[in-house]
Parts: sequence; structure tokens; C-alpha cells
Amino acid sequence: MRILIVEDDPVLLNGLTVGLRLSGFSPEAVASLADAATAMDSDEFRAVVLDIGLPDGSGLDFLATLRRAGDARPVVLLTARDQVADRITGLDTGADDYVGKPFDLHELAARLRALLRRGEGRAQPSIEWNGLVVYPETMSGKRDGGTIRFAAREFALLQHLLERPTAIRSKAELEERLYGWNEEIESNAVEVHVHKLRAKLGARFIETVRGVGYRLAEEDAG
Ligand code: CA
Repeated sequence: MRILIVEDDPVLLNGLTVGLRLSGFSPEAVASLADAATAMDSDEFRAVVLDIGLPDGSGLDFLATLRRAGDARPVVLLTARDQVADRITGLDTGADDYVGKPFDLHELAARLRALLRRGEGRAQPSIEWNGLVVYPETMSGKRDGGTIRFAAREFALLQHLLERPTAIRSKAELEERLYGWNEEIESNAVEVHVHKLRAKLGARFIETVRGVGYRLAEEDAG
């Protein structure tokens, strides 16, 4: 799931990117509000992790602009631990949640999962498709009583397919989900991860639509 991180501290930004990636998200990081505005113009990001103090302005002003424009995507604020006023202003400006620095990456990932599931109208944390129950919090699945574990990128790909199971996702789109903007993409990466997923879930779980891309097989297709 594509998440935009807006943070100007390079150490924190790197930690957030690596941490969220290990939790099965597909994070992208920008260090200014100008870059954040450009990134938000596309609808590829499902949620935003937003710092308040940024070199070209306040994250709170950016948030207010987003909400005035009718952008309802979940926003989690990064606030200084002792800045209660920022949190109150942030929540009242339209933030959905906050974490205080220094924060726990597992907690941030859990808060993002909660917001995304609420955004999808789901109350339960697991996702079901075709006999497979997927648990985003542990990047694992259950089927026929057995537990299946996924590596972070496998899980990112599976989760993207699960968002709209019968929609066809192109290879280019899946590559984007697997890698950040600045990472070099191995030409067969998508095929490799689809192959690994099929080995775990059965050959027919993911369909290849020749010349177009991939989608999940219809329910009960076996
Ligand atoms: Ca900052």
C-alpha cells in the first residue's frame, strides 16, 4: 500500500521508509511541502505521514489546504512529544491520528493499518479472498488451517492485488508498488514475486492476463 512520508530529517525519513517497507507498505519519502503537494496531485498514495516543521512551511497549513480541497486521505501527524497544542490543532485541522516523536515504528504501522481499514469500511483487521485469510499486522495468511508467511515485498504485492482483487494490475503498476522512486528495479522483479506467491498460494491464485498484467482469480476458482 502506497504511503507518502513528508519529513525533512534525513535520519528519521530513512528510518520511516525502511520501517514501513518492512511492515509491508510501499512508502515514498519527500522532504518538503512543495514535493508533497506534487506527490498528492496523483491519487496513488493511500495515506500520508506528515511532519509539522518543514523547510518550506508548516505541515498543519499543508493539511488544512488538503482538507479544504476535499482530499480525505488519512493523515498521521508526527508531533513533538511535548507539543499537545500541535496535536489538538492537528486533529481539529483534519488529521486522523498522530504519533509523538520519538515514536515506535510498529505503532505507526498499526495506526496506518487501522486508518486504512476504516477508510475501506472494514472493522476487522483481516482480509479474506478465495479461502485465504490475510493478516496485515503479521504479513501472514491462513488457509486450510495452515499458516503462510510472506516476505515484505511479496506481501506488498499481494496486498495491492487484494485492494481490488479482480482488477487487472499492469506489471509497471506492480513494479511501482514494489520499489521506491529512487530504487533500481530489476527487470523480472514482479515475475519473481508472483512466482513466490504462487508457490505459497497455489498456481491459480494469481492469474496472468497475457500482455496486460495480473489479477487474483475469482472466488472459488480453486
Ligand atoms: Ca521537521
